[in-house]
Amino acid sequence: MSDYSDYKDVWVYLQVEDGSLSRESLEVLAAGRKVADKLNQKLIGVVLGPATKETLKQAITYGASKVIYCNDESLTPYFNLRYIDVLTELTTKRKPYAFIFVENELGRDIAPRVAYRLNTGLATGTIELDIGEFFNALEKKKYENLLVQIRPDFGTRIAKIFTPSRRPQMATIRPGNFIPLEPDTKRRGSYEEYKYEGGQGSYPAVVQDMKELPKPKVDLREAKVIISLGLGILKDGKGNARNPREAYDFAVKLKEVIQAKYNLKAELGATRALLYANLKELEGLLTHDNQVGQTGVTVAPDVYFAIGISGSIQHRVGMQKSKKIVAVNTDPGAPMLKIAHYPIVEDLYDFMPKMISMLTEGNEGRKIVAT
Ligand SMILES: Cc1cc2nc3c(=O)[nH]c(=O)nc-3n(C[C@H](O)[C@H](O)[C@H](O)COP(=O)(O)OP(=O)(O)OC[C@H]3O[C@@H](n4cnc5c(N)ncnc54)[C@H](O)[C@@H]3O)c2cc1C
Repeated sequence: MSDYSDYKDVWVYLQVEDGSLSRESLEVLAAGRKVADKLNQKLIGVVLGPATKETLKQAITYGASKVIYCNDESLTPYFNLRYIDVLTELTTKRKPYAFIFVENELGRDIAPRVAYRLNTGLATGTIELDIGEFFNALEKKKYENLLVQIRPDFGTRIAKIFTPSRRPQMATIRPGNFIPLEPDTKRRGSYEEYKYEGGQGSYPAVVQDMKELPKPKVDLREAKVIISLGLGILKDGKGNARNPREAYDFAVKLKEVIQAKYNLKAELGATRALLYANLKELEGLLTHDNQVGQTGVTVAPDVYFAIGISGSIQHRVGMQKSKKIVAVNTDPGAPMLKIAHYPIVEDLYDFMPKMISMLTEGNEGRKIVAT
């Protein structure tokens, strides 16, 4: 049995975007702080590539006890194999107890490869982290103070994943599930520059050119109100087929009224089932950028309208932290109605025009939107 007693501290991988830490990095700092506090260990932010002093300080302000940074010139432009070499060397030497990344392009690119090099496990797409114990029935052994990595799994359940017998315990967190800490400019921390010792290295690939991908047209995470549509828009309450464009137009109208009257940024969301239905009436109007859920975006707006959405676990994990949920469904047993603050058993084709006119005329609907 390996001795991991010298593995300590919780590490989080931080990304710099336009000269400061990305919003997702602030989220991973919050996630890391939560578990570091429970373990009574330090939270260490790791930054690779160029970063100003102010950016590094931002990591302390948002929760880190210390920042380790490495600005080896070979780290620019980004090249995954090089990043993995540096992170593997750093991690092997310093032995963190846990190492957490964000589940984004970069996290998906490097976290699994680092885990493979370190011969440890990786729980991807976690939505919650905690500290807890695990009993291995085969070994008849209890492991204490483990990182509990919580994620939706196998379609219908929430799984708790443990890495009892390997270190570091590694996870990626899904963006949108952790709220950044309030910045504390008085928080004290330390900084350490790490010099990579692995030399030039020889790689089977080189980076010749880098191009920014276009930003998504819709940024659901910026919206205060999200009006999401599901497959329920295909039929009305009497079971008659409806042109889904009608419901889409109602949703757009609702969005416009909310924006104009309440000055709140509103956007349209959708379920995966609706998008996968590839309806020609909605072609180009709703895309993957609008998808909320496990394989879409995780959101927590002030108000979330779930319209004709059953509330599968994969959808719920992407929106259940919304401050107010308004669910409209003809089926009183729909799971979405159970988590809604305003469960409305009604045909969406009746509800939507009513909601629009209530908001336009400024009576009842205000209670929902003016949270
Ligand atoms: C690995 C995996 C990942 C997934 N990722 C995602 C994801 O990221 N996001 C996501 O959304 N799904 C995801 N899914 C799909 C998910 O399991 C569900 O299939 C999907 O969320 C269902 O979408 P829906 O609610 O629109 O459709 P349905 O489940 O068909 O629900 C339609 C609802 O509309 C109601 N309804 C019908 N007519 C009306 C009416 N006239 N008025 C009011 N209500 C009405 C019905 O009662 C029903 O509850 C994933 C699945 C898997 C296996």
